[in-house]
Amino acid sequence: MLMDTNINAPSNFIRNIIDEDLASGKHKAVVTRFPPEPNGYLHIGHAKSICLNFGIARDYKGTCHLRFDDTNPEKEETEYIESIMRDVHWLGFDWGEHLYFASDYFEQLYELAVELIKQGKAYVCELSAEEIRAYRGTLTEPGKDSPYRNRSVEENLDLFQRMRQGEFEEGSHVLRAKIDMASPNIVMRDPTLYRIRKVAHHRTGDAWCIYPMYDFTHCLSDAIENITHSICTLEFENNRPLYDWILEQVYPKPHPQQIEFARLNLSYTMMSKRKLLELVQKGIVNGWDDPRMPTLSGLRRRGYTPAAIRDFAERIGVSKANSMVDYAFLEHCLREDLNQTSPRTMAVLRPLKVVIENYPEGQVEYVEGVNNPQDPEAGTRLIPFEREIYIEQEDFMMDPPKKFFRLAPGREVRLRFAYFITCTDVIQDEAGNIVEIRATYDPETKGGSAPDGRKVKATLHWVAANHSLPAEVRLYDHLFTVEDPGVGELEENLNPNSLEILTDARVEVNLKDVQVEDRFQFERQGYLCVDSDSSPEHLVFNQTVALRDTWSKVNK
Ligand code: ATP
Ligand code: MG
Repeated sequence: MLMDTNINAPSNFIRNIIDEDLASGKHKAVVTRFPPEPNGYLHIGHAKSICLNFGIARDYKGTCHLRFDDTNPEKEETEYIESIMRDVHWLGFDWGEHLYFASDYFEQLYELAVELIKQGKAYVCELSAEEIRAYRGTLTEPGKDSPYRNRSVEENLDLFQRMRQGEFEEGSHVLRAKIDMASPNIVMRDPTLYRIRKVAHHRTGDAWCIYPMYDFTHCLSDAIENITHSICTLEFENNRPLYDWILEQVYPKPHPQQIEFARLNLSYTMMSKRKLLELVQKGIVNGWDDPRMPTLSGLRRRGYTPAAIRDFAERIGVSKANSMVDYAFLEHCLREDLNQTSPRTMAVLRPLKVVIENYPEGQVEYVEGVNNPQDPEAGTRLIPFEREIYIEQEDFMMDPPKKFFRLAPGREVRLRFAYFITCTDVIQDEAGNIVEIRATYDPETKGGSAPDGRKVKATLHWVAANHSLPAEVRLYDHLFTVEDPGVGELEENLNPNSLEILTDARVEVNLKDVQVEDRFQFERQGYLCVDSDSSPEHLVFNQTVALRDTWSKVNK
């Protein structure tokens, strides 16, 4: 079920490597994988990796595996596994029968560790974590050999087996590769392969009390699954020699090739799962799917489309250099999609009542509105019009400055799809707040143009006062006030105005049967989406993105 996204995938350095491997006959088919650790929800950065890995499999008619990298027993939860599968599907990709768990390889990994010991290339070390760190040396100084480094194979085999049997306390013994304590690459200074954790695992239960480390697990899981190209982010560049070393010792060829690319960094966006979890646990946001979260479930709830996210991932491309992508570019990709696909509707977020004095009381008529000017197939709808309507508070000014062309005392404007109206009076309360506008309409201007050819300078959206529906509208801004919230403390950079709730909004009566995740363009306002809190009795909309495109303005 791989989606056809109709994108001519641009070439990039990873695809160039694959092209060469296929041309040289090194591989006959391409197998990639997406290997999330199930310790949080997927975010927009993961989407880059998903689109890359599944996109390559799609374009080369290969396969892409979904593998849960679940070697860390205490952090992993079923909730995360389910959300990850849901989100990958939502993005439009499918792993078919290729769903794997690193924990399924625990027995095989153990056997391979034993093999490494038999070759004299791994040993059980009894230094404490602190001592191991001290012995490791620094970038400028070589490390020191562990006093346990030259144990005999027999002794190591015995100790490793007893580690497995639970004879030793956590932290007292680890299994380490025997490589080179003087290597210029610190990763190669006898890295830890196994540690003792007396914790139950979500899939293997109490079967194990030793767990393999990422570096040992990942390369071998790739090899076991016949992955050809193991694509990961740049932080793992220094781990590549270890990836290759382990395979070289214990696994038959051909070996998968690790290729690193720059991770996605997005302005105003935090992507560390640890910190996202903190936002959830501290109640700073309302869960992993809060519409302000950069998680795929948050973006979905906010109204993002899978097509827009795939398009974004494609257009930012892949490179070898870390950089920061402007959030406005993500929004630009989103608007391009929503502009094509979203039905238009009228909604008034902050209502101001207008009474049209020369319109008959009790009369309701229907005017015709275009559903989507980008899509002729979308047709038209009928919108009720009556004597009392609402307009947006900000569309009226008592003493308008020169450039304000919307409604003001004595001025005539167009009501979208309906009539010209002229403001004849303004009603204020004792405090001077404007509470109601009085107006007259010109019956000759039905549909929005005057037979005598006179022009108006503004067209306002509106809804009928009685023939409209109440709604709650949630407006969002960035969760953080700084471009790079990854540096510094979480709380310091929070935007106190990231959520504004409008409870008095009114929407077209045509929205009465909307479903959760339905998306609309509220004319002149932006794109909105029906929130999961919404019900027929209480409609709730999330502002997905405003209409104004800040990115294309700067970059075109
Ligand atoms: P964290 O460090 O926050 O825990 P992670 O990268 O360890 O995140 P994983 O679940 O291990 O999270 O990630 C799964 C895959 O997604 C990895 O292959 C990783 O390289 C990729 N990935 C994670 N974050 C990004 C990002 N910002 N841009 C591109 N790829 C990413
Ligand atoms: Mg990781």
